[in-house]
Amino acid sequence: MSSLKKDSKIGTRKRIAVIAGDGIGQEVIPQAVKVIKASGADVEFADFDWGADRYLRDGTTVPPDGFARLSRDFDAILVGAFGDPRVKTNIHAKEILLGMRFKMDLYANVRPVRLLDAALCPLKGVEPKDVDFIVIRENTEGVYTDAGGVFKQGTPDEIATQEDINTRKGVERIILYAFEFCRSHAKIDGSPRGKVLMCDKSNAMTHAGSLWQRVFKEVAAEYPQITPQHMYVDALCLQMVRDPRQFDVIVTNNMFGDIITDLAAGLQGGLGMAASGNIHPGKTSMFEPVHGSAPPIAGKNVANPFGAILTAAMMLGHLGFTKETSKIDAAVLEALRQKKTTEDIGGSLGTREAGDWVAEQVSATLSS
Ligand code: ATP
Repeated sequence: MSSLKKDSKIGTRKRIAVIAGDGIGQEVIPQAVKVIKASGADVEFADFDWGADRYLRDGTTVPPDGFARLSRDFDAILVGAFGDPRVKTNIHAKEILLGMRFKMDLYANVRPVRLLDAALCPLKGVEPKDVDFIVIRENTEGVYTDAGGVFKQGTPDEIATQEDINTRKGVERIILYAFEFCRSHAKIDGSPRGKVLMCDKSNAMTHAGSLWQRVFKEVAAEYPQITPQHMYVDALCLQMVRDPRQFDVIVTNNMFGDIITDLAAGLQGGLGMAASGNIHPGKTSMFEPVHGSAPPIAGKNVANPFGAILTAAMMLGHLGFTKETSKIDAAVLEALRQKKTTEDIGGSLGTREAGDWVAEQVSATLSS
């Protein structure tokens, strides 16, 4: 088994593990795979049935050796969503998704916030060039580590604690990642990025805030060409709505990153448009749309597949398929221009039909 990944590294062919998961993940991921195939990228896929159905069938969330196999045998992982009303505890979602992020140490959650069409933004007078920033969310620490507990549960004296874990190593590597990202990634219009803004709540959460503040200053000093900035998370939310033009690269902790990227998705046309990568440089990384399993719309062929398709493009870019990434991005832009989209963003196509349209557009650019 261990030879598989070695083989893929010898040639250019990359191996992708596909975990569609639950709800609309089962609908949008096949569209993303179809579009990747249409792009001609030299990749092969292996499907994994991890999710609620498998859990309800045989009690498995992650099979033994599951994460080790993903790291060893694959170059990247494409994930849909997890969450199913039949699994009230959501245990499978936690073990699979947080398991991948934590156990594979995918510490940088990279969420591009790009407005592809002015009509999708709820703000007045905002053009695509005005919304082009990146949120880099710490992905392995904070309040998501499940540290804490409940004491005297169910009594009037009940106490619940949820610890916010921030390690020097964790804070330093995510801030470094943000500065390196800023240095090495241009904006959509080709101009260089030049600002990294750290978002925290250090006026109230003083201990963790102090660590983030000190590390941010130290790292910023190593990058004199990049302007360091700071905002409290509450002020940032206000500013994102008032004037998204001011943002470039934002780095923040796990919880604030989770919250502000839903707000940011609103600037892009909703959850159906937002892509993300869970990255550890040099290791097998995982890519997933920002949206969840969306039970109310699952199985109806109405979910917007563009978040998943843009996620696939991001994954291909990460794997070095830059031409294929540009083709997919251009095809999605064209779909928006011609309103070949699902209803949530103003079109009249179903999930499959919107996926077909983008795949055909990608194939057409290949043969032209
Ligand atoms: P999670 O807890 O997994 O983050 P959530 O319940 O917060 O999930 P989602 O399930 O992602 O959020 O979606 C919330 C709502 O947003 C959905 O019920 C649906 O109305 C809308 N939505 C999310 N994703 C899409 C999509 N791809 N296409 C259209 N609508 C979507």
